[in-house]
Amino acid sequence: MKKAFAIGKLRELGYKITPQREYVLDLFLGSKDHPSAESLYGMVKERFPYISLSTVYNTLNTLVDIGLAKTIYLEDKTYFDPNIEPHSHFICEHCGNIYDLEPIDIDLSNIKNEHMAYSTTFEVFIYGICKECIKINEN
Ligand SMILES: [Zn+2]
Ligand SMILES: [Zn+2]
Repeated sequence: MKKAFAIGKLRELGYKITPQREYVLDLFLGSKDHPSAESLYGMVKERFPYISLSTVYNTLNTLVDIGLAKTIYLEDKTYFDPNIEPHSHFICEHCGNIYDLEPIDIDLSNIKNEHMAYSTTFEVFIYGICKECIKINEN
């Protein structure tokens, strides 16, 4: 299980697994919505008011370092993704939510570039408006 593996790795690196840190792991590893450190911090704070933003940042950055999370950089903000398989995203230009997409079929042999010897995988960002934002605008 990913959480047990994450805890083992963090311990190896000398991190104390406090209830706060474990709660960060629970929320993050179970999340599907690509939270920022700030938004996770907001959620963790409801249960652990004394947790610091840097604890949340440290935990997330360490997960990235040990290969259990990926970062998405969008307009100067960093979002964290517990899904480390190559996958593509849909980004709502109105609310900024980021959603995982079903696998996209692209024939990489058609994608050429003077610098590229060969390609192995790809991730696509598709921008648009999400259904929630369309609903709000219709009302
Ligand atoms: Zn939206
Ligand atoms: Zn994702």
